[in-house]
Parts: sequence; structure tokens; C-alpha cells
Amino acid sequence: MTNNLNTLLFCPICSQKYSNGCIRTVANRKEAIIVHITCSVCRSASLAIISNGNDNDRLISVGMLTDLSYDEIIEMIKKGPITADEVLEINQIISSV
Ligand SMILES: [Zn+2]
Repeated sequence: MTNNLNTLLFCPICSQKYSNGCIRTVANRKEAIIVHITCSVCRSASLAIISNGNDNDRLISVGMLTDLSYDEIIEMIKKGPITADEVLEINQIISSV
């Protein structure tokens, strides 16, 4: 069960093993837990999504580097999902460049 999670225990940049204080929960939902991890050595940040998917016998994890701080991610979550109008507005801005 934990083999998939082992890759999340080490920094992908400097290979330092993460300590408990490096990991903060961003969201804890029934279907997944999202955590923000900051390496204590190189200060790189990652987001990890851990889910049991449709199969309760194994965990699925996905990790990705981010330049967002924990506080910035929490702020984005508070703002909620983007709307269709916002997507259209961004498309118009990009198209005009
Ligand atoms: Zn590191």
C-alpha cells in the first residue's frame, strides 16, 4: 500500500527526506487529501494529491512542483473555481496579443 507513497517522502530536487514539519494539509476531502510540502534544504515546494480512487485497497499519489506557497494556495481555494465568463475573458485577452 505504501510503495506508491515512498516517492513523495523525498524532495525531487535535492533528494532530502521530508520531515514532518515540511508537510501541511491543503484540503482533506472524502476522495483525496492534498498536501503542500516545502523542502527544508532547498526550499522547493510541491503539491501532492493522495487518493484511494475507486479501489480502497491501494492508494494513488501524484506529486508536482509548484512555485506557490501554502498561503497562496489557500487563498486560491477561498476564491473558488473560475467561471466560464472568466475563461472567455482570458481567451479574449490572449487572442488580442
Ligand atoms: Zn530539496
